[in-house]
Amino acid sequence: MTRVQEKSFSGHASVSLVTGAAGFLGSHLVDRLLSKGHQVVGIDNLSTGNPENLKNALSDKKKFHFIQADVTLNPELPELKYDYIWHLASPASPVDYRRLSIETLLVNSAGTKNILDIALRHKAKFLLASTSEVYGDPLVHPQKEDYWGNVNPIGERACYDESKRFAEALTTEYRRRFGLDARIIRIFNTYGPRMRIQDGRVIPNFISQALRGEPLTVYGNGNQTRSFVYIDNEVEGIMRAMFYENTDGEVINIGNPQEYTILEVARIVAQLCRVELNIIYESLPSDDPTRRSPDLSKARALLGWKPSIPFEIGLTKTIDYFVQRKLKDQVSKK
Ligand code: UDP
Repeated sequence: MTRVQEKSFSGHASVSLVTGAAGFLGSHLVDRLLSKGHQVVGIDNLSTGNPENLKNALSDKKKFHFIQADVTLNPELPELKYDYIWHLASPASPVDYRRLSIETLLVNSAGTKNILDIALRHKAKFLLASTSEVYGDPLVHPQKEDYWGNVNPIGERACYDESKRFAEALTTEYRRRFGLDARIIRIFNTYGPRMRIQDGRVIPNFISQALRGEPLTVYGNGNQTRSFVYIDNEVEGIMRAMFYENTDGEVINIGNPQEYTILEVARIVAQLCRVELNIIYESLPSDDPTRRSPDLSKARALLGWKPSIPFEIGLTKTIDYFVQRKLKDQVSKK
């Protein structure tokens, strides 16, 4: 596995375009790219993103430019020569993509086409942020990249699962037919600071419920599993997928193979928030995957990457962030 020297043009820093820049993942990626000296253009329509996530980036007026726009509508970009294009724009929480179902279908289809066309015009390296959801409710464990998945094409998650599958197919065809330098990463459950409190995903829900002294809402019997990767590890994996050699044409899982049942997650969150574990059971959303865990052989071989931050440590940092946010919200309400 070898790192590639990053491209630069006319003596300037590399230029990156990040779609979904104001989101949880996008904003952390923007910060990392800026810290590496990249010039970054970020796009976001703010349907689920928050400009506050870009507070640091926006203070760097020379290096960072933000455009509030929808990639589905092919927005105009500053006239720069883009070297790297990171396509992250899409709602990603089940609550969000059910609420924004058509928008999700369109951003991952029409939006992906618009961004792929920009990548072709600029001869940029392209990275598609796909998802473990392309495996649906998998029948094979752990999931390897060559597993085709078990997806309901008309279920409640279909707007996300199927449009991400379409985005993968489209990206693959742009590479096959036009020689685009492209890689696809499949992101498993990721958590950390800057997740929205109202995001609806299990970790923000459990932490905010615990901090409010409310019972934690477990959907179904809580025996379903997920595996969680901390944001800093995730961003490192994404960066390597773009910058390491031999990633063109590859599909790579980026996640954590350590599985937890949702009941275990509830217990750990309650313990770290120092509250008694109190649970109310609610009905399981339809098509909720029973088990999910990545096979990381490929990430290890190609990128020398595996997650390193233990769940309890990552959760503690996330809880600290939520405590700060809660205090800030209380102050701003006064
Ligand atoms: N979940 C839960 N309580 C919540 C939120 C989610 O029990 O308050 C469950 C959900 O049904 C799923 C798992 O936690 O089985 C992970 O859900 P999340 O929405 O975080 O992400 P997913 O992996 O389903 O996309």
